[in-house]
Amino acid sequence: FWIVDWKETHTLKTSSWALGDRNGHIYLSELQQRSPPSMISLAGGAPNPNTFPFQLASIKMKNGQTLTFDETVMKRALQYSASNGIPELLTWMKNLQKNLHNPPTAGYAPENGQMDMCVTTGSQEGLCKVFEMLVNPGDNVLLDAPTYSGTLATPLGCNLINVPSDQHGMIPAGLKEVLSQWDPSEVHKPGSTAPRVLYTIPNGGNPTGASMTSQRKQEVYELARQYDMLIIEDDPYYFLQFDKPWAPTFLSMDVDGRIIRTDSFSKILSSGLRIGFVTGPKPLVDRVVLHIQASTMHTSTFTQLMVSQLLHSWGQEGFLQHIDGVIEFYRTQRDAMISSADRWLKDVAEWHAPSAGMFLWIKLKGIADTQQLIMKKALEKEVLLVPGGVFMINSSDPCPYVRAAFSLSTPEQIDEAFRRLSSLIKEAL
Ligand code: PLP
Ligand code: PMP
Repeated sequence: FWIVDWKETHTLKTSSWALGDRNGHIYLSELQQRSPPSMISLAGGAPNPNTFPFQLASIKMKNGQTLTFDETVMKRALQYSASNGIPELLTWMKNLQKNLHNPPTAGYAPENGQMDMCVTTGSQEGLCKVFEMLVNPGDNVLLDAPTYSGTLATPLGCNLINVPSDQHGMIPAGLKEVLSQWDPSEVHKPGSTAPRVLYTIPNGGNPTGASMTSQRKQEVYELARQYDMLIIEDDPYYFLQFDKPWAPTFLSMDVDGRIIRTDSFSKILSSGLRIGFVTGPKPLVDRVVLHIQASTMHTSTFTQLMVSQLLHSWGQEGFLQHIDGVIEFYRTQRDAMISSADRWLKDVAEWHAPSAGMFLWIKLKGIADTQQLIMKKALEKEVLLVPGGVFMINSSDPCPYVRAAFSLSTPEQIDEAFRRLSSLIKEAL
């Protein structure tokens, strides 16, 4: 039994071993935990948790349950752990990914080792490391702007190319048009400037609220095959899709192993615990893990144990039940925001009701750029929104949009905010 366990641990850490054992002390301390009691280890570089001031933790859940960390669990929670994530959380997540997305075979099934996952400190860490791995200064990178300002903030020195999009996200014909300046048979030639990476937020996009249809994803995937591109599927609002069945993901269509997917627990379990996941071809996930080793070492062990215990106690069914409750909340909020928009903004603005996420993207009629209006006049009227410019590739380009979030305010507050926005727009016209 011990030998089998040891092999599992050893396999997990092989890459770090090969790379000069940057966190060998983690490997060794895990190995020690699984060793017979007679083993004396002087090898680890981990500190002694008996010197730490924390002893026990008991976390009360809203459903009345309690998560308890006894002294043994607490010592583990306070200690270094493996860079790809604690094994029991990874196993749980791999099962979930398989059930939700069932990535096609063609050498890409988790059981034959071609696909892999790692835990990240929020999906933002995964995204940043994926970009740093794939993109060199000067590279052409495709994305559908307006897009998440956190992605635009990644300091890559690359050339971002905008692919046209509408309320259903990236438009395949628009992508085809952008790509037509390159010859698919020449993308592998040295010096080719053809983009190798396409980034998209497929559901409840930030800031647009747009969700891609399955048909569009298929067409975009086909173009990615034709031009041999990787697709970064940044999907933090996947679990906030209001209507079932949820749209098939790029991951679920990935016959080639060209999808790198980032998942986030921020909108469903906690944003402050900082936990997310990267799923993709094993060689690429391995590189991300090496980068984690060299930077944060790993996502907080305490956070991972807390989430892992919760997920194991819930099971997949309990997890999905929890998600249903979250969806219900955001759907009601979305409906409240849409009816307030109908009440106050009909004459002065345009929008599409989002089918996922937590944002309404509003185009103000007759206002060329919302920056001044929002950053100055709206503040005076005590209503806060985000001017659309911050989500554009070139943030100084004029943008007639604003982003409104329906996550935090009550329906009454949303209604009052839109009343104020409406009078503000009328004054500005
Ligand atoms: N990607 C998108 C599109 C987001 O909107 C956000 C958060 O707002 C993130 C990534 C970052 O999420 P996390 O909290 O998992 O790092
Ligand atoms: N620098 C040195 C010299 C170290 O030995 C270690 C950890 N062993 C670190 C940095 C990383 O420390 P931290 O756990 O705070 O990231």
